Amino acid sequence: MIYDVIIIGGGPAGLSAGIYSSRSRLKTLLIEKAGCGGQIAITDNLENYPGFEEGINGFDIAVKMEKQAKNFGTEIIYGEVLSIDTEENLKKVILSDKTYITKTIIIASGANFKKLNVKGEKEFIGRGVSYCATCDGPFFRNKEIAVVGGGDSSLQEALYLTKFASKVNLIHRRDEFRAAKILQERVVNDLKINVFLNTTIEEIYGLETIEKVKLKNVKSQEITELNVNGVFIFVGWTPNTNFLTQSKISLNENGYIITNDNMQTSISGIFACGDIRKKLLRQVVTAVGDGATASVAAQHYIEENI
Ligand code: NAP
Repeated sequence: MIYDVIIIGGGPAGLSAGIYSSRSRLKTLLIEKAGCGGQIAITDNLENYPGFEEGINGFDIAVKMEKQAKNFGTEIIYGEVLSIDTEENLKKVILSDKTYITKTIIIASGANFKKLNVKGEKEFIGRGVSYCATCDGPFFRNKEIAVVGGGDSSLQEALYLTKFASKVNLIHRRDEFRAAKILQERVVNDLKINVFLNTTIEEIYGLETIEKVKLKNVKSQEITELNVNGVFIFVGWTPNTNFLTQSKISLNENGYIITNDNMQTSISGIFACGDIRKKLLRQVVTAVGDGATASVAAQHYIEENI
Protein backbone atom coordinates (compact mmCIF):
# COMPACT_ATOMS: atom_id res chain seq x y z
CA MET A 1 0.00 0.00 0.00
CA ILE A 2 1.36 3.41 -0.96
CA TYR A 3 -0.25 6.42 0.71
CA ASP A 4 -0.45 9.81 -0.96
CA VAL A 5 -0.02 11.60 2.36
CA ILE A 6 1.09 10.46 5.79
CA ILE A 7 0.45 13.01 8.52
CA ILE A 8 2.49 12.70 11.71
CA GLY A 9 0.52 14.17 14.64
CA GLY A 10 -3.18 14.55 15.39
CA GLY A 11 -3.47 18.06 16.81
CA PRO A 12 -5.43 20.82 15.04
CA ALA A 13 -2.75 21.20 12.31
CA GLY A 14 -2.60 17.47 11.54
CA LEU A 15 -6.38 16.99 11.66
CA SER A 16 -6.91 19.98 9.39
CA ALA A 17 -4.36 18.51 6.95
CA GLY A 18 -6.31 15.23 7.19
CA ILE A 19 -9.64 16.91 6.45
CA TYR A 20 -8.24 18.72 3.40
CA SER A 21 -6.25 15.74 2.06
CA SER A 22 -8.99 13.14 2.33
CA ARG A 23 -11.57 15.61 1.00
CA SER A 24 -9.28 15.91 -2.06
CA ARG A 25 -9.45 12.11 -2.29
CA LEU A 26 -5.78 11.64 -1.43
CA LYS A 27 -5.10 8.32 0.30
CA THR A 28 -4.37 9.73 3.75
CA LEU A 29 -2.99 8.13 6.91
CA LEU A 30 -2.66 10.09 10.15
CA ILE A 31 -0.40 8.66 12.86
CA GLU A 32 -0.92 9.97 16.39
CA LYS A 33 1.19 9.02 19.40
CA ALA A 34 -1.29 9.39 22.29
CA GLY A 35 -4.73 10.88 21.60
CA CYS A 36 -5.96 13.32 18.96
CA GLY A 37 -6.23 16.99 19.85
CA GLY A 38 -2.71 17.78 21.01
CA GLN A 39 -2.48 20.74 23.37
CA ILE A 40 -6.11 21.82 22.87
CA ALA A 41 -7.36 18.51 24.29
CA ILE A 42 -6.24 19.82 27.70
CA THR A 43 -7.54 23.37 27.21
CA ASP A 44 -10.71 24.21 29.11
CA ASN A 45 -11.94 27.16 27.08
CA LEU A 46 -10.68 28.18 23.66
CA GLU A 47 -11.97 31.73 23.52
CA ASN A 48 -10.12 33.21 20.53
CA TYR A 49 -11.06 30.70 17.84
CA PRO A 50 -13.46 32.57 15.54
CA GLY A 51 -17.06 31.45 15.45
CA PHE A 52 -17.56 30.57 19.10
CA GLU A 53 -18.54 33.80 20.85
CA GLU A 54 -18.71 32.11 24.27
CA GLY A 55 -15.53 30.09 23.63
CA ILE A 56 -15.44 26.33 23.17
CA ASN A 57 -13.98 23.48 25.22
CA GLY A 58 -10.69 22.33 23.64
CA PHE A 59 -11.40 18.62 24.02
CA ASP A 60 -14.85 18.99 22.41
CA ILE A 61 -13.50 20.75 19.33
CA ALA A 62 -10.66 18.20 19.05
CA VAL A 63 -13.19 15.34 19.03
CA LYS A 64 -15.19 17.14 16.31
CA MET A 65 -12.08 17.71 14.17
CA GLU A 66 -11.11 14.04 14.49
CA LYS A 67 -14.61 12.88 13.47
CA GLN A 68 -14.60 15.34 10.56
CA ALA A 69 -11.25 13.98 9.27
CA LYS A 70 -12.50 10.38 9.59
CA ASN A 71 -15.80 11.25 7.86
CA PHE A 72 -13.86 12.38 4.78
CA GLY A 73 -11.78 9.19 4.81
CA THR A 74 -8.62 9.92 6.83
CA GLU A 75 -7.33 6.68 8.33
CA ILE A 76 -6.14 7.32 11.89
CA ILE A 77 -3.82 4.95 13.74
CA TYR A 78 -2.05 5.23 17.09
CA GLY A 79 1.67 4.66 17.36
CA GLU A 80 4.99 6.40 17.75
CA VAL A 81 6.96 7.35 14.66
CA LEU A 82 10.61 6.47 15.32
CA SER A 83 12.13 7.91 12.14
CA ILE A 84 11.45 8.84 8.54
CA ASP A 85 13.47 7.89 5.48
CA THR A 86 13.39 10.54 2.77
CA GLU A 87 16.24 9.35 0.55
CA GLU A 88 14.00 7.94 -2.22
CA ASN A 89 11.15 9.52 -4.17
CA LEU A 90 8.76 7.33 -2.17
CA LYS A 91 9.28 8.07 1.52
CA LYS A 92 9.16 5.75 4.54
CA VAL A 93 7.58 6.40 7.93
CA ILE A 94 9.04 3.95 10.42
CA LEU A 95 7.26 2.74 13.58
CA SER A 96 8.58 -0.01 15.90
CA ASP A 97 6.40 -2.71 14.33
CA LYS A 98 5.74 -1.45 10.81
CA THR A 99 7.03 0.79 8.02
CA TYR A 100 4.59 2.80 5.89
CA ILE A 101 5.33 3.99 2.34
CA THR A 102 4.07 7.35 1.11
CA LYS A 103 4.46 9.93 -1.63
CA THR A 104 4.47 12.86 0.81
CA ILE A 105 4.79 13.45 4.56
CA ILE A 106 3.16 16.22 6.55
CA ILE A 107 4.84 16.71 9.94
CA ALA A 108 2.41 18.06 12.54
CA SER A 109 4.00 16.63 15.66
CA GLY A 110 3.63 19.79 17.75
CA ALA A 111 5.49 20.49 20.95
CA ASN A 112 5.78 19.04 24.46
CA PHE A 113 5.66 20.99 27.74
CA LYS A 114 8.97 22.04 29.27
CA LYS A 115 9.95 21.17 32.81
CA LEU A 116 11.25 23.58 35.43
CA ASN A 117 14.02 21.16 36.43
CA VAL A 118 14.00 22.07 40.12
CA LYS A 119 14.40 19.76 43.12
CA GLY A 120 11.11 18.07 43.98
CA GLU A 121 9.48 18.57 40.56
CA LYS A 122 10.01 15.03 39.30
CA GLU A 123 9.34 13.48 42.71
CA PHE A 124 5.92 15.16 43.07
CA ILE A 125 4.54 14.59 39.55
CA GLY A 126 1.05 13.18 40.14
CA ARG A 127 1.26 14.15 43.84
CA GLY A 128 0.93 17.90 43.42
CA VAL A 129 3.05 18.85 40.42
CA SER A 130 0.95 19.18 37.27
CA TYR A 131 1.26 20.45 33.69
CA CYS A 132 -2.50 20.30 32.97
CA ALA A 133 -5.04 22.49 34.75
CA THR A 134 -8.13 20.89 33.21
CA CYS A 135 -6.89 17.41 34.16
CA ASP A 136 -5.83 18.15 37.73
CA GLY A 137 -7.54 21.40 38.79
CA PRO A 138 -10.50 19.65 40.49
CA PHE A 139 -8.07 17.89 42.90
CA PHE A 140 -7.17 21.27 44.40
CA ARG A 141 -10.62 22.42 45.51
CA ASN A 142 -10.23 24.89 48.40
CA LYS A 143 -6.45 24.42 48.42
CA GLU A 144 -3.71 26.96 47.88
CA ILE A 145 -1.59 26.43 44.77
CA ALA A 146 1.27 27.96 42.76
CA VAL A 147 1.23 28.52 39.00
CA VAL A 148 4.56 29.13 37.26
CA GLY A 149 5.16 31.13 34.05
CA GLY A 150 4.32 34.45 32.44
CA GLY A 151 2.94 33.43 29.03
CA ASP A 152 -0.62 32.96 27.75
CA SER A 153 -0.80 29.41 29.13
CA SER A 154 0.11 30.26 32.71
CA LEU A 155 -2.19 33.28 32.97
CA GLN A 156 -5.10 31.54 31.26
CA GLU A 157 -4.71 28.45 33.43
CA ALA A 158 -4.21 30.52 36.62
CA LEU A 159 -7.58 32.16 35.90
CA TYR A 160 -9.18 28.77 35.26
CA LEU A 161 -7.72 27.32 38.48
CA THR A 162 -9.44 30.03 40.58
CA LYS A 163 -12.62 27.96 40.01
CA PHE A 164 -11.15 25.37 42.39
CA ALA A 165 -8.27 26.71 44.47
CA SER A 166 -8.74 28.95 47.51
CA LYS A 167 -5.77 31.03 46.32
CA VAL A 168 -3.59 30.97 43.20
CA ASN A 169 -0.03 32.28 43.55
CA LEU A 170 1.24 33.20 40.10
CA ILE A 171 5.04 33.06 40.05
CA HIS A 172 6.95 34.66 37.19
CA ARG A 173 10.69 35.10 36.79
CA ARG A 174 10.59 38.58 35.20
CA ASP A 175 8.91 41.88 36.03
CA GLU A 176 6.54 41.73 33.07
CA PHE A 177 4.33 39.08 31.51
CA ARG A 178 4.49 38.07 27.88
CA ALA A 179 0.83 36.97 27.93
CA ALA A 180 -1.90 38.85 26.01
CA LYS A 181 -2.91 42.12 27.70
CA ILE A 182 -6.52 40.97 28.17
CA LEU A 183 -5.30 38.03 30.29
CA GLN A 184 -3.00 40.32 32.29
CA GLU A 185 -5.95 42.64 33.05
CA ARG A 186 -8.08 39.72 34.22
CA VAL A 187 -5.27 38.38 36.43
CA VAL A 188 -4.65 41.75 38.07
CA ASN A 189 -8.38 42.15 38.76
CA ASP A 190 -8.85 38.66 40.16
CA LEU A 191 -8.87 38.76 43.96
CA LYS A 192 -8.00 35.08 44.20
CA ILE A 193 -4.71 35.55 42.32
CA ASN A 194 -1.59 36.73 44.09
CA VAL A 195 1.26 37.71 41.73
CA PHE A 196 4.96 37.21 42.54
CA LEU A 197 7.16 38.93 39.94
CA ASN A 198 10.95 38.53 39.63
CA THR A 199 10.50 35.25 41.47
CA THR A 200 11.54 31.67 40.80
CA ILE A 201 10.71 28.39 42.50
CA GLU A 202 13.94 26.87 43.79
CA GLU A 203 12.57 23.73 45.42
CA ILE A 204 9.31 21.88 46.01
CA TYR A 205 8.95 20.13 49.39
CA GLY A 206 6.55 17.85 51.19
CA LEU A 207 6.10 14.37 52.61
CA GLU A 208 3.39 12.40 50.76
CA THR A 209 2.15 15.46 48.86
CA ILE A 210 3.42 19.01 48.34
CA GLU A 211 3.44 21.20 51.45
CA LYS A 212 5.51 24.21 50.39
CA VAL A 213 7.85 25.74 47.84
CA LYS A 214 11.07 27.67 48.29
CA LEU A 215 10.92 30.99 46.43
CA LYS A 216 13.79 33.24 45.39
CA ASN A 217 13.44 36.90 44.50
CA VAL A 218 15.91 37.18 41.62
CA LYS A 219 16.44 40.93 42.22
CA SER A 220 17.04 40.93 45.98
CA GLN A 221 18.17 37.25 46.18
CA GLU A 222 15.82 36.93 49.18
CA ILE A 223 14.65 33.37 49.89
CA THR A 224 11.17 32.78 51.31
CA GLU A 225 8.78 29.85 51.70
CA LEU A 226 5.19 29.61 50.54
CA ASN A 227 2.70 27.00 51.75
CA VAL A 228 0.98 25.42 48.75
CA ASN A 229 -0.47 21.99 47.98
CA GLY A 230 -0.05 22.11 44.22
CA VAL A 231 2.38 23.49 41.64
CA PHE A 232 1.14 23.96 38.06
CA ILE A 233 3.97 24.54 35.60
CA PHE A 234 3.44 26.33 32.25
CA VAL A 235 6.88 27.46 31.14
CA GLY A 236 6.69 26.85 27.41
CA TRP A 237 7.12 24.04 24.95
CA THR A 238 9.85 22.05 23.17
CA PRO A 239 9.25 20.98 19.54
CA ASN A 240 8.75 17.23 19.04
CA THR A 241 11.46 16.50 16.50
CA ASN A 242 13.27 13.50 18.07
CA PHE A 243 12.28 11.26 15.17
CA LEU A 244 13.94 13.67 12.72
CA THR A 245 17.48 13.45 14.12
CA GLN A 246 18.70 11.32 11.20
CA SER A 247 16.87 13.29 8.54
CA LYS A 248 18.32 16.33 6.81
CA ILE A 249 15.33 18.58 7.51
CA SER A 250 16.49 22.09 8.44
CA LEU A 251 15.60 23.28 11.93
CA ASN A 252 16.16 26.71 13.44
CA GLU A 253 18.32 27.38 16.52
CA ASN A 254 15.38 26.47 18.83
CA GLY A 255 14.66 23.18 17.07
CA TYR A 256 11.59 24.30 15.07
CA ILE A 257 11.24 23.16 11.43
CA ILE A 258 11.93 25.84 8.83
CA THR A 259 9.33 25.98 6.05
CA ASN A 260 8.40 28.35 3.25
CA ASP A 261 4.93 29.93 2.95
CA ASN A 262 3.61 26.68 1.43
CA MET A 263 4.76 24.64 4.48
CA GLN A 264 7.50 23.03 2.32
CA THR A 265 10.52 21.97 4.41
CA SER A 266 14.11 21.78 3.16
CA ILE A 267 13.31 18.32 1.68
CA SER A 268 10.94 18.15 -1.28
CA GLY A 269 7.74 16.24 -0.60
CA ILE A 270 8.05 16.82 3.16
CA PHE A 271 5.82 19.50 4.67
CA ALA A 272 5.43 20.78 8.23
CA CYS A 273 2.55 22.61 9.87
CA GLY A 274 1.37 23.91 13.24
CA ASP A 275 3.46 24.43 16.37
CA ILE A 276 6.36 22.32 15.08
CA ARG A 277 7.39 24.95 12.55
CA LYS A 278 9.20 28.25 12.94
CA LYS A 279 6.54 30.97 12.92
CA LEU A 280 5.28 34.08 14.65
CA LEU A 281 2.01 32.90 16.15
CA ARG A 282 1.29 29.45 17.58
CA GLN A 283 -2.49 29.24 17.95
CA VAL A 284 -5.25 26.87 16.83
CA VAL A 285 -6.33 29.41 14.24
CA THR A 286 -2.86 29.43 12.62
CA ALA A 287 -2.38 25.67 13.04
CA VAL A 288 -5.51 24.80 11.05
CA GLY A 289 -4.52 27.24 8.29
CA ASP A 290 -1.06 25.67 8.14
CA GLY A 291 -2.59 22.19 7.91
CA ALA A 292 -4.83 23.17 5.00
CA THR A 293 -1.93 24.81 3.15
CA ALA A 294 0.36 21.81 3.73
CA SER A 295 -2.30 19.51 2.33
CA VAL A 296 -2.82 21.55 -0.85
CA ALA A 297 0.97 21.88 -1.30
CA ALA A 298 1.33 18.10 -0.92
CA GLN A 299 -1.35 17.59 -3.57
CA HIS A 300 0.48 19.93 -5.99
CA TYR A 301 3.75 18.11 -5.29
CA ILE A 302 2.18 14.74 -6.15
CA GLU A 303 0.63 16.11 -9.37
CA GLU A 304 3.91 17.64 -10.52
CA ASN A 305 6.45 15.04 -9.35
CA ILE A 306 4.99 11.55 -9.02
P1 NAP B 1 5.49 30.84 26.34
O1 NAP B 1 4.75 31.91 25.63
O2 NAP B 1 6.77 30.34 25.75
O3 NAP B 1 5.74 31.34 27.83
C1 NAP B 1 6.51 30.60 28.71
C2 NAP B 1 6.63 31.38 29.99
O4 NAP B 1 7.38 30.60 30.91
C3 NAP B 1 7.37 32.72 29.83
O5 NAP B 1 6.75 33.69 30.61
C4 NAP B 1 8.77 32.39 30.34
O6 NAP B 1 9.38 33.48 30.98
C5 NAP B 1 8.49 31.34 31.39
N1 NAP B 1 9.60 30.42 31.54
C6 NAP B 1 10.26 29.73 30.59
N2 NAP B 1 11.21 28.95 31.12
C7 NAP B 1 11.16 29.16 32.46
C8 NAP B 1 11.89 28.64 33.57
N3 NAP B 1 12.86 27.74 33.41
N4 NAP B 1 11.58 29.08 34.79
C9 NAP B 1 10.58 29.99 34.99
N5 NAP B 1 9.85 30.51 33.99
C10 NAP B 1 10.13 30.10 32.74
O7 NAP B 1 4.60 29.51 26.53
P2 NAP B 1 3.01 29.35 26.64
O8 NAP B 1 2.42 30.34 27.56
O9 NAP B 1 2.77 27.91 26.89
O10 NAP B 1 2.49 29.68 25.18
C11 NAP B 1 2.99 28.92 24.07
C12 NAP B 1 2.31 29.42 22.79
O11 NAP B 1 0.93 29.07 22.83
C13 NAP B 1 2.38 30.93 22.68
O12 NAP B 1 2.53 31.25 21.32
C14 NAP B 1 1.03 31.39 23.19
O13 NAP B 1 0.62 32.61 22.63
C15 NAP B 1 0.13 30.24 22.74
N6 NAP B 1 -1.04 30.15 23.64
C16 NAP B 1 -2.10 30.95 23.37
C17 NAP B 1 -3.21 30.93 24.19
C18 NAP B 1 -4.35 31.83 23.88
O14 NAP B 1 -4.33 32.50 22.88
N7 NAP B 1 -5.38 31.92 24.69
C19 NAP B 1 -3.25 30.12 25.33
C20 NAP B 1 -2.14 29.32 25.59
C21 NAP B 1 -1.02 29.37 24.75
P3 NAP B 1 9.91 34.77 30.14
O15 NAP B 1 8.69 35.54 29.79
O16 NAP B 1 10.81 35.43 31.13
O17 NAP B 1 10.65 34.20 28.97
